[in-house]
Amino acid sequence: MANHRKYIDSASGLFADRFVENRPCPVCDVDSEIFLFAKEGGQYKKCTRCDIVYLNPVFKDKYLEEYYRANHDLQSEIVEEDSEFYIDLYEKGLRSIEKVVKPGNILDIGCSAGLFLDVCKMAGWNTYGVELNTKEAEYAKGKSHTVYNELIESVPFDTKFDAVTLWDVFEHLKNGAYYLKHISTLLADGGVIFMQIPSADSLAAKILQEKCNMFDGLEHVNIYSYRALEKLAGKCKLTVIDMDTVISEVGVINNYLNYESPYFGKADKTSCLLNLIDEEALHQHKLGYKMQVVLGRA
Ligand SMILES: [Zn+2]
Repeated sequence: MANHRKYIDSASGLFADRFVENRPCPVCDVDSEIFLFAKEGGQYKKCTRCDIVYLNPVFKDKYLEEYYRANHDLQSEIVEEDSEFYIDLYEKGLRSIEKVVKPGNILDIGCSAGLFLDVCKMAGWNTYGVELNTKEAEYAKGKSHTVYNELIESVPFDTKFDAVTLWDVFEHLKNGAYYLKHISTLLADGGVIFMQIPSADSLAAKILQEKCNMFDGLEHVNIYSYRALEKLAGKCKLTVIDMDTVISEVGVINNYLNYESPYFGKADKTSCLLNLIDEEALHQHKLGYKMQVVLGRA
């Protein structure tokens, strides 16, 4: 948090002007926004055309890079501590990919220590990863995945991929269209792009608003609604083949509705929200905390 707070101007409580720049909606490319709330120095706006929730102003690339470099990357430790939770999500995601393509070559962008690639290898896939953190890249290589420790744009791949995956990565990218177009060029015929991203349509986000932890003020620059994602895909000549939501956050919402701290309260551990909607129904309505999306060429 100290690394994050040092960019905040103490008088305004917002990020100091020199670190940030203004931008139009990253999906529609027009200014049609309403202010939602400020959080940890950042200001979240919503595009009235596509419902994406995005940081505006947003960090300039130079400072975003500086911030990430100073940040100790704990992703692999977080995942390892709670590996059962993650493996369930990974298996569900892989099932949705395998509904469309048979196991072949798979590339995981931001593969961390390679836990998802482990799941893929077990299922018969040839596993490739891209990871900027050197330590994590080395660790994943040690499990005999092919891992590149460089930017996705600069890797000279000698193969095409039946699936390219981005787990909790896409919301960090300011220019989603640029990456979707680039990733499309890496796909084999009939290949798919899979991503897991926080959902602006989720019940947790809509009820908790600025208290919801998907809004961190700095890293999560674009929180897509389903409508925004569909529109962005279309602009990149892609189409949504499959979309499911995961992680209900019913416990968190129950805490909040019982006047307790959403993340530290102990109000209600049941899987039903106010006796009105259970986890299954919540996901049927696509109201889960994250979207798992499969995209294919239009
Ligand atoms: Zn928009």
